[in-house]
This record gives sequence, C-alpha cells and structure tokens, in this order.
Amino acid sequence: MATRIVTLPGDGIGPEIMAPAVELLRRLVADVEIEEHLFGGAAIDAHGTGLTDEVLGACRSADAVLLAAVGGPKWDTTDPSRPRPEQGLLGLRQGLGLYANLRPVRPLPALYDASPLRREIIEGTDLLVVRELTGGIYFGEKTRTADSATDVCTYSIAEIERIVRTGFAAARSKVASVDKANVLETSRLWREVVKRIHAEEFPNVELEHVLVDNAAMQLVAAPRHFDVIVTENMFGDILSDVAAMLTGSIGMLPSASLGDEADGGVGVFEPVHGSAPDIAGQGIANPLAMFLSVALLLRHGLDLESEAAAVESAVDKALDQGLRTRDLGGTANTAEATAAVFAGLA
Ligand code: ATP
Ligand code: MG
Repeated sequence: MATRIVTLPGDGIGPEIMAPAVELLRRLVADVEIEEHLFGGAAIDAHGTGLTDEVLGACRSADAVLLAAVGGPKWDTTDPSRPRPEQGLLGLRQGLGLYANLRPVRPLPALYDASPLRREIIEGTDLLVVRELTGGIYFGEKTRTADSATDVCTYSIAEIERIVRTGFAAARSKVASVDKANVLETSRLWREVVKRIHAEEFPNVELEHVLVDNAAMQLVAAPRHFDVIVTENMFGDILSDVAAMLTGSIGMLPSASLGDEADGGVGVFEPVHGSAPDIAGQGIANPLAMFLSVALLLRHGLDLESEAAAVESAVDKALDQGLRTRDLGGTANTAEATAAVFAGLA
C-alpha cells in the first residue's frame, strides 16, 4: 500500500523549503503519495480560513503530515473578526489530538561556536525533550477576581500514561522524568504513573526523576547527561527553549507533534522556526531544519529509522564540509544547501 503524506507548505519561506523536502521524501520512501494543500495565510486568501475541513480530513487519513511554516505581516490583525493563520495551526493540533511535542537537540560539531555555551559543555549532547501538549495549567480553568487570579492545573492518569509511553519508547538509554513532586499534587500523580509504566512496560530503560529546577540547571551545566526528558506541558515549554539554545541557531531545529490514536494517530512534523517573511521569495532560506523534520517524520511517523539516520548524517556531512547558509554566517542559498545535503545521502 502506498504511503500517504500530506504536505502543507504554508506561507513565507514555507513553499521554498517544502519543495526540496518533498524531493527528499521521494528519494527515501518507496511508493510515496504526496498530497499538497493550502494552509495558514495561503488558505485564508483562497478559502477565508487557515484550515478547511477538507484539509483537516486529508491530514487525519494520512500516514504523516509535513508542515513548513505559517503566517506573515499580510495576515497580522488585531481585528478578532478576521481569520488568522495561527488559528489554522491550533485547529490542526486539536483536530489531530497532538498531545506529544518532540524536540531533539543535537548540537552539530561544525556549529558548536554558534552556541552561547562553551564547546566543552555542549560537546556530545544528543537529547530529546518530550513535552505534553494538550493538558496541564495552560488548559485548566482560569478565574479572576478584583484582587487575585487562579490557573488550575489538572492531569488525568490516562493523559500522563500516553505521554510517558511516548518518552520511554523514544529512549535509547535512559529517561529523565521531570516534575515538581515536592510541591505539586499533579507532579506526585505524574511520578506514580511514571514508576508504574516503567516497571510494567519498560523495565530495561534506565529511569531517573528530576525536579524541574534541577533539570534547568543541569541542561546548561551538563546537557550530555540527558537522553530523553519527558515532562508536562509548562515545564516542557520552558525546558525545550533552554535546550534549544545549546544549538545556538533556530534555523537548525526540527520538531514532531504526535497524535492521539483516537484521531488517527497522525503526527505533524515541522521546523521550529517561523515563515521568515523578511527573506521570503529570495531563495536563500536555510532548508536544514526542514530536512531534519523530514528525518523525524521518517523515524516517528513511518518507522524508517535507517532512512532518518541517513538524512541526519547527510546534514552533518554537508556542514562538516563547510556548508553555511546566510543565517549561519555563510553565502549558500537554498538550492546550494539542498545539493550539498543530497550529495551526502548514502
Ligand atoms: P513566528 O512568529 O512564526 O515564530 P518569527 O518572525 O518570530 O515568526 P521566524 O520566522 O522564525 O520568527 O524568523 C526569525 C528570524 O530568523 C528572521 O530574521 C528570519 O529571517 C530568520 N529565519 C527563520 N527561519 C529561517 C531559515 N530557515 N533560514 C534563514 N533564516 C531564517
Ligand atoms: Mg516567533
């Protein structure tokens, strides 16, 4: 059966980095069917909404979704009656039940000097932050009185179980479960569930419980220590940005958001950076975060581990050989960066 991938190029530099990413997919996935749809600002221009029901339906029945970037000054508005591209993104997250956000942080030796941290600290870091995306304090009841405000943090056992399983399944050697169990009740429940899932389903993976304040400290003091970090929504939000700074460049970071089985179990794979309207249309965007997002799609969306590793190693090789786009202080354009990576594919 053909593998069906929905591609959403979106806005700004989106289409420019999606085109070579599609070529990469065609090279690596046998019998692949690519279905491209308008999304974000482009969909607002054509249909008056950032995400049509038709596109959401196509995504739900796909094997994986590859997204480039949405938004731009053309659609920026403070008028609540006008549609915004970001609403398309939210609709996609809700419609696919994307409960797990994965951000690998793997500073590349060729770019160590781009990080604000010293080379000795980041050397050899290869970690993954697995963040719960649909629960916790961001979604709890919010109340406001004249002299106080409240945000409620709630997690159910089922919500914790599925994200913790995602974390254990992604681990190569060990899992650091991050919580604040010394003060939060949700964290005490979190820790109980982690212990049980570990004992029952993943006894061979090393497990440690780390308090979030300590995890933040260790991320900048000894990031090599971590393999997989699994944590709840707000802690993950903060820690994934801390971890991102180990690499120093937003143009290099991919992400994966994994979906709930009840919504088809479809994942969305996209670069962390935005649509970069300031350089759109010039053919100079760095496509590497997009290529690394394809690697995540291959690994987590299609279970093609060796193909995923081949993409990552081709990106490493191209950088080792001196490839630098403008955002990395060089002069290579999108086409040259693409050629350099494709040349390194085994
Ligand atoms: P958003 O609100 O969508 O996050 P943003 O404007 O905050 O958008 P980006 O779109 O990521 O963030 O742009 C931030 C800066 O990084 C811009 O100067 C942009 O040109 C640059 N940038 C982002 N992605 C790339 C890329 N792939 N290649 C080159 N430069 C990039
Ligand atoms: Mg931004």
